[in-house]
Amino acid sequence: MSNKTPIQWTHSTCNPSMGCDGCELWPNPSKVRSELVTLALSASGESKLRLTALIGLELHPYEYASQIFHDRIDLALKLESLIPEVPSYLWLEKLEQIFKCYAGILHIYRGGKPADWSTPSVKGHAAIFEKPELFPGRVAKSANLPDLRGKKAKDSPWLDGLPRLIFLSDMGDALSRSISFDYLKAEIIDNVTSPQGQRHIWLWLTKRPKRMAEFARWLESRDLTWPDNLVAMTTITNQKTSNRIANLRQVPAKVRGLSIEPLWEDVALDLQGIDWAIVGGESGKSARPFDLSWARSLLTQCHQSETAFFMKQLGANIVDDGYPLTVRDRHGGNWEEWPCDLRVREFPQSFHDDSLIQSQPEKSNPPETPTIVPSC
Ligand code: SF4
Repeated sequence: MSNKTPIQWTHSTCNPSMGCDGCELWPNPSKVRSELVTLALSASGESKLRLTALIGLELHPYEYASQIFHDRIDLALKLESLIPEVPSYLWLEKLEQIFKCYAGILHIYRGGKPADWSTPSVKGHAAIFEKPELFPGRVAKSANLPDLRGKKAKDSPWLDGLPRLIFLSDMGDALSRSISFDYLKAEIIDNVTSPQGQRHIWLWLTKRPKRMAEFARWLESRDLTWPDNLVAMTTITNQKTSNRIANLRQVPAKVRGLSIEPLWEDVALDLQGIDWAIVGGESGKSARPFDLSWARSLLTQCHQSETAFFMKQLGANIVDDGYPLTVRDRHGGNWEEWPCDLRVREFPQSFHDDSLIQSQPEKSNPPETPTIVPSC
């Protein structure tokens, strides 16, 4: 649980589980192998068959890609000794480029390398990122955090006056296959609907909206409804993954949102039934370009569909009108450095008017105005 987070669109984060089955941002070992073979082929005169065998042998001991990431420096040195045409720094660069999931990388850095791959070296993490572990009690703890309704948010004026927003699962995906619906009900639903939990708005983000909809049906079959203060959200990164929106619509949530980050291309979205869209460019060393025309197009699409638009960050490789745009913040997250028209950080109106929340605020204050734009 983190009471404070640098993520601009939430006050707090909470992880009822740590780790994830993976998605397009996290490779499996065979994807790692094929990327390394491609790199080797670009420099070596050896046949593809031989390079595949050499690299495959080095990767053979690893069952999960996160284990490869842990050992990437040693591996890069070994690969250089086997295929000297590619220096170790290029092997390392490639190994780091393939892993795009911020949660997975952070998990590995913070959790450390487990001695025997079965016990995490730092408590509170999964030993292996791809094998999620449960942490019951964390959502109840977050539910007890102070009520923020009507309070000022220091350094984040766009959050002023809102109930506490709690992002569920920023360090994995709680809808990974191995996590049971019984656990999700006991850990998430029971605590989100408790008197303490109902003072906050919970933002549940998954790349598995189909399983989220299955979970909603499972709840219905037990005469339980989806809580009003539990926002159902999914991530999309390109046109292909936008098919997750149709699955998200099957979740009977009062508010549904999209995290469109990292956005890799221009997308045209069907935003029917979608109340909120968060947009962001990629950050990190090998960030792909983020063309601001894609963000502008989404801003227009959102406003045409009455979907609140939240520009989170421009990323580390910004292109505006065909030219690179340089900013000081390495994530492009400081909106004072952005073109004026993109300084938009909106929330659904229901976040402001307390309609998602049952209990009364500790101090009553008038709802805040939804959009704040710094002067240009
Ligand atoms: S945590 Fe999210 S981004 Fe990371 S691998 Fe899992 S689904 Fe993908």
